[in-house]
Amino acid sequence: MTTTDTRWRNWASTAAAHPRAVARPRTDEDLARLVGEAAAGGRRMRAVGSGHSFTDCAVTTGTSVDLSALDRIEWVGPPSPDGSRPVRIGAGITLRRLCVELAERGLALANMGDIDAQTLAGAVSTGTHGTGERFTGFAGMVEHVRIVTADGAIRDTTPDSEPDLFEAARLGVGSLGVITALTLRAVPAFVLHAHEAPRPLAAVLEGLADPDGPVRSNDHFEFYWFPHTDLALTKANNLAAADDLPLPTTRRLLDDELLSNGLFAATNELCTLAPGLTPWVNRIAARALGERTYTAPSHAVFVTPRRVRFREMEYAIGAADLAPALARVRAWLDRRRAAVPFPIEVRFAAADDVWLSTAFGRRTAYVAVHQNLGLEFREYFRAVEAIMADFGGRPHWGKIHWLRRADLAELYPRFGDFLAVRDRVDPHGVFANRYTGRVFDTA
Ligand SMILES: Cc1cc2nc3c(=O)[nH]c(=O)nc-3n(C[C@H](O)[C@H](O)[C@H](O)COP(=O)(O)OP(=O)(O)OC[C@H]3O[C@@H](n4cnc5c(N)ncnc54)[C@H](O)[C@@H]3O)c2cc1C
Repeated sequence: MTTTDTRWRNWASTAAAHPRAVARPRTDEDLARLVGEAAAGGRRMRAVGSGHSFTDCAVTTGTSVDLSALDRIEWVGPPSPDGSRPVRIGAGITLRRLCVELAERGLALANMGDIDAQTLAGAVSTGTHGTGERFTGFAGMVEHVRIVTADGAIRDTTPDSEPDLFEAARLGVGSLGVITALTLRAVPAFVLHAHEAPRPLAAVLEGLADPDGPVRSNDHFEFYWFPHTDLALTKANNLAAADDLPLPTTRRLLDDELLSNGLFAATNELCTLAPGLTPWVNRIAARALGERTYTAPSHAVFVTPRRVRFREMEYAIGAADLAPALARVRAWLDRRRAAVPFPIEVRFAAADDVWLSTAFGRRTAYVAVHQNLGLEFREYFRAVEAIMADFGGRPHWGKIHWLRRADLAELYPRFGDFLAVRDRVDPHGVFANRYTGRVFDTA
């Protein structure tokens, strides 16, 4: 159940850890005993998922808890009139496996981000989200959280049972305890029709101002703007009839592998070697991405392979602020002539009521900036962070940012409530680490 080979790195190699032990509990009771022992001995612990956060949020010098053995669907509840069902799931399951298991039961996740390598608990705990202004992120889909707290208790929390702990634990950045199971609302399996098309950025931004524009008229709309160009690649995914025959997948695979990964790896390599070529390379890359449509099960449309490694920062702002915020980012990039071969990704989400959700209380637009691992990123990311601050931007909990507790307290109306629950259930900081020290503890 524990191992001594403990060296760990995250996916992007931007965080590393050498915990004193790694524990792989097989049951809630095993875990409760481990937590109780660590707390009694004054030792620290931290749950780790798939290591797909860009920050050191999963790092610990104490015991790293790997929940990969808790990866089953435990229970499927009765259907609601709309066909959705509550599903209780082991917290360590990966989204990839979860999608397969749900599909076998005729179910699916209502929305997803662009990869499926994360664990369910990791995705929920950092506010991971996809796109679609009628959809929340993962934490907004959660109806129950089972969590082992620092006192070694196994607690089943819902909006009716320990509601404060439920609210804090459904997006707690690993700080409330170790989540062992979550109940999510899953929807009947569905097929998506995808339409990707390059468009002039100005036309895309004009569409944003239209209340009936693409953000509203599509189920899932997003776009990628290539810095130093006037082009954006738009992606619109919409519910399709289940009997729509999926097109042969070879063309899509070819596009994803060649354009999103192969060509992209080559352009990134080139820009790393010769940063001055970036504007020219981006213009070519943006033009290479042609229009295409395809139809596939939802999971296959949401997820894209990501083989080029990068750093990422993502900020949530009010949807109405998107155009002026992007204009300022563009002006900065033009002024600095910064080498940025990665497109800026823009997504949308519904307002929700999860205390630490980046979409708490407001219709949200997400602006994600990426940089190749080999290229300088600090000046670019810090400039974007400063711009987003002027629009009340909230950083993704699992992506690079430099905010501290005092900044975050201003951005989240329920921040104090969250900290009060955290201090009550973990008074001695068993689940604290350097990241939580910065975002939750230092002024
Ligand atoms: C290529 C790539 C693409 C991405 N795409 C998206 C996207 O489309 N949308 C988006 O919003 N984000 C995206 N992300 C960010 C990613 O979804 C989050 O960082 C997510 O948390 C990673 O999940 P994980 O399982 O790897 O968790 P980790 O990174 O391992 O851990 C994240 C946090 O969750 C905590 N945690 C993990 N398991 C538990 C548990 N059982 N109980 C309590 N706490 C726990 C950890 O302590 C840590 O604080 C992407 C990241 C990468 C690298």
